[in-house]
Amino acid sequence: MARNCFVISALLACVGGGTSVTARTADRRPALEVVMDNRSPSAGPELAMACARIRFIFDEAGIRVTFVMQSDGLAGAASGHDRIRLVLLDQREADQVIAGEVKRLGFAIPPAYRVYVHYDRVEALARFYHVHPGWFLGVVMAHELAHVLLPGAGHADAGLMARSLSPDPKMPMAFTRQEAQVMRERLSGEMTLARR
Ligand SMILES: [Zn+2]
Repeated sequence: MARNCFVISALLACVGGGTSVTARTADRRPALEVVMDNRSPSAGPELAMACARIRFIFDEAGIRVTFVMQSDGLAGAASGHDRIRLVLLDQREADQVIAGEVKRLGFAIPPAYRVYVHYDRVEALARFYHVHPGWFLGVVMAHELAHVLLPGAGHADAGLMARSLSPDPKMPMAFTRQEAQVMRERLSGEMTLARR
């Protein structure tokens, strides 16, 4: 099942599905671990701000997010039942992965616990709107990660999970209460199962 997610002019796309993600955290909040696989050299300087934005967005939803870099030797366990792998693509790789679909900013594959984001497109759009690329990168990443935690939910009429996202810091980019609750319950439920 494929679902297109349009940002401004048809820029986001995702794939729905149904799987689960395990969570664990020292402070008892539901937690999500993200394995960052950065294949876009130019994205490096923006990653800190992007990760901070993701932490902020999920923290407001009551979820703790931790990051592990792919370079830390997790190649064999980059995705699975306890983490989501986030791949930042450069243009060349993006063309290989999704030949012919040139306008989307990112997409999610929930059954594989993976999301992909096209950094060059995120950066170009952010700069066009005079928004910091790192900020918008975090917003797009959070949107795609949530598709894994909310499989089948599709898009909302407004908010962070809206079909259309605008790179405007003045717009509230947050999960709705219901979205946050579903994600917390999903993560908490998986944590409970994992302990049995
Ligand atoms: Zn989407």
